[in-house]
Amino acid sequence: MKPDYARFVALSNEGAKGLGYKDTGALWRSNYDMEPDAFAAETDRLWKQVEPFYKNLHCYVRARLNEQYGDAVQPKTGPIRADLLGNMWGQQWGNIYDVVQPKGITSSYDLDKLLEAKGYDPVKMVKTGENFYSSLGFAPLPQTFWERSLIVRPQDREVVCHASAWDIDDKDDIRIKMCTKVNADDFRTIHHELGHNYYQRAYKNQPALFRNSANDGFHEAIGDFAALSASTPTYLQQIGLLDKAPGAEEDIPFLLKTALDKIAFLPFGLLVDRWRWQVFSGEVGPETYNDAWWKLRLQYQGLTAPGPRPADAFDPGAKYHVPGNTPYTRYFLAHIYQFQFHRAACKQAGWKGPLHRCSVYDQKEVGRRFNAMMELGQSQPWPETLKTFTGETRTDASAVADYFKPLNTWLVTQNRGQTCGW
Ligand SMILES: [Zn+2]
Repeated sequence: MKPDYARFVALSNEGAKGLGYKDTGALWRSNYDMEPDAFAAETDRLWKQVEPFYKNLHCYVRARLNEQYGDAVQPKTGPIRADLLGNMWGQQWGNIYDVVQPKGITSSYDLDKLLEAKGYDPVKMVKTGENFYSSLGFAPLPQTFWERSLIVRPQDREVVCHASAWDIDDKDDIRIKMCTKVNADDFRTIHHELGHNYYQRAYKNQPALFRNSANDGFHEAIGDFAALSASTPTYLQQIGLLDKAPGAEEDIPFLLKTALDKIAFLPFGLLVDRWRWQVFSGEVGPETYNDAWWKLRLQYQGLTAPGPRPADAFDPGAKYHVPGNTPYTRYFLAHIYQFQFHRAACKQAGWKGPLHRCSVYDQKEVGRRFNAMMELGQSQPWPETLKTFTGETRTDASAVADYFKPLNTWLVTQNRGQTCGW
């Protein structure tokens, strides 16, 4: 699809210029209530906040992969081979938890197995997601949601299974489309997608131009915020999936599993648009599309391709959002906002324990304040909207550090004697 993509870039830039922007990248960066260049600098600042933690995780995972596969496959130093991370894009590493799990500490439960053992089916998974939001005081989903959503993969036709949420009429016709499987990943994805729907419904009374998220990172963060609570053993016990929540001895396995998805994701969430900004600006042309992609993969993620890539390769085209043309920095931002929301919500709920064990299930006052933020839609600059719920006016990755603090300390100990970085 490389020639098609190059043609698309030219056409898209033409449209952006017609709207008064330098190129499509500048148009995308203009959506954050600040100058496009200031926004780019803002993402750099955020990355610097989380980079040391990412490097600790990278270092630990690399050492475990080296033990598993040997020097010839995964050397002790340098980048990690992207095909060893259990994910087509190396963007989330949770699938290799079994390879990198801490020695001598086992988890007493496995959400995949719990869901199966308790007889969950796709509809029950979605009902459980709805129930979480209902516990916060949100009105139930409309009957049409259940009639019109696509929840299981249909047998009689091809569909796009990439999960998504839809608002059909700007009123009540909200729906999801996902080929739900009964597992922990989809359990989280349901909370994510429903977050879009509840947000859409919350801002439906705004004037048409304001019927959107405060910025696009907010739209992605709402449901992830819900999923942060819904993934805790505290919550799994609250809804009867787990008989007894494990003690603090299982905090590290839990945090490591979470970090393999959420922290490993950060540099990827940043680099997809770093690459596109360069492509749209013309700094990178079709002949170097793939080289520039892997240069960023190395720089931010510390990953390398398993072997030389052919001259005509177009690896970024394999990422849904590139040909689908969905901006990606929103996911990077959402991976920070969700922890800011979570930290603020747990404080409002009077939670005393560590953040990673906090569940705001059934906290009506938290729900009321969260909905008050959501109802604002895009009616004011996003920092003011952020402030209404968190009291903070900046995107702040210190919430990420707070959440994962015990894990980062543990990683530093584990990494002793290693030369981290690449
Ligand atoms: Zn989403």
